[in-house]
Amino acid sequence: MNKIINIAIDGPAGAGKSTLARKLAADLQLVYVDTGAMYRTIGLYMARCGVDATDAAAVEARLPEINLELRYVDGVQCMILNGEDVSRAIRTEEASVNASKVSAIPAVRAFLLETQRGLARKCSVIMDGRDIGTVILPNADLKIFLTASAEERAKRRYTEQVERGEKVSYEEILREIQERDIRDTTRATAPLKPAEDAVTLDTTGHTLEDSLAIMKALLKERVGLE
Ligand code: C5P
Repeated sequence: MNKIINIAIDGPAGAGKSTLARKLAADLQLVYVDTGAMYRTIGLYMARCGVDATDAAAVEARLPEINLELRYVDGVQCMILNGEDVSRAIRTEEASVNASKVSAIPAVRAFLLETQRGLARKCSVIMDGRDIGTVILPNADLKIFLTASAEERAKRRYTEQVERGEKVSYEEILREIQERDIRDTTRATAPLKPAEDAVTLDTTGHTLEDSLAIMKALLKERVGLE
């Protein structure tokens, strides 16, 4: 049996983690695990139930009602919430804000920890999130902390949404990114920070292709994957 390889990608919202991890997974035959999608799904469930995402006791009480499943259709991760495919529903700005709120609750993090570790035990993964290198996979074969300035991340998100035909304001996106950064880096449980042994890659001013090439070189050099 081939050795199981675990790659951890962490970093703030909009740094390009999911796009890059998805491409690397496809090129190097790894399973891509988007852990943000799991937090988004819990956020969505709470919103649907009318539960305030900042009310830790209320959120915790509802967790046993949730059955999360990851399915891969043509290599694409689909999030299944109690049998329903919510892959699209979790991509709204509201779901993203709710995800960030529920993710600060220790019971939510504990609920997802085993699921995430279990996936990494079963197969070679490239897992993206906020605490993958620090908490979930401390022994990952390679940890990359992907970042970019808040302005650059807001610009990328703005362009993406305009291309999708959405009416958005750059200033509002920048403010949301800054608020989310503060919430993610200052929370008591598993705050966003690079693991001590992570390689930090600042993608400000890089094209996606530049970043992809740098990451591939790292994977080849450190893990022998190509
Ligand atoms: O990566 P994505 O934007 O989908 O994540 C949504 C939110 O989920 C993040 O803002 C973060 O608060 C939270 N999250 C987390 N830990 C992870 C992945 C995501 O706290 N491993």
